[in-house]
Amino acid sequence: MSKIAIDIDNTICNSNEFFGPIALKYDREVLHKDNDIDYSAGIPKSNAWSEEELKYYFENYFSKQVINIPIKEDAVIYINKLKRLGFEIVFITKRGFKDYDHSDLIIPDYLKMNNILYDDIITGSVDKYNYLGDCDYFIDDTIENCEQALGKTGAKVIMIKTDRTKDYSNDKVFKANNWQEIYEYITN
Ligand SMILES: [Mg+2]
Repeated sequence: MSKIAIDIDNTICNSNEFFGPIALKYDREVLHKDNDIDYSAGIPKSNAWSEEELKYYFENYFSKQVINIPIKEDAVIYINKLKRLGFEIVFITKRGFKDYDHSDLIIPDYLKMNNILYDDIITGSVDKYNYLGDCDYFIDDTIENCEQALGKTGAKVIMIKTDRTKDYSNDKVFKANNWQEIYEYITN
């Protein structure tokens, strides 16, 4: 049966929206700085933070609150529909790549808590295309991951439309506004 690889942050849940204010508060009130927050890397953080400041953020804020990221309700509905149709569902995420990032450990609880059916979870995947060899579909919100999958795998690539990807255009990439569109694209 067909296999679908699905990113987690900003693909099935609103990570940027949730962690943007937390990163800002950490920068202003804990570090007493005035850094810009970068939203392009999947998890909002400042590129001006030192390795130590980043480690503190991941250990004390990100890893601890990641369970509370609001799920996209339509992701739950349509991923479960795909799973019930017989599709193999694999979640693939960079979480856990850094040794101070323990947010990968919470993923099984998070998926269970949100009633999402799945087959497998791949964590710490900085170059996702390396894991997509036998996948028929790849769903992600970052341009870099999508383009690598397009160039280096046979998977059909679905890009989640966000503020960062709204102007991106590529005939070979299906851009989706929501999970209903993803479901229809895959099943039609
Ligand atoms: Mg993502």
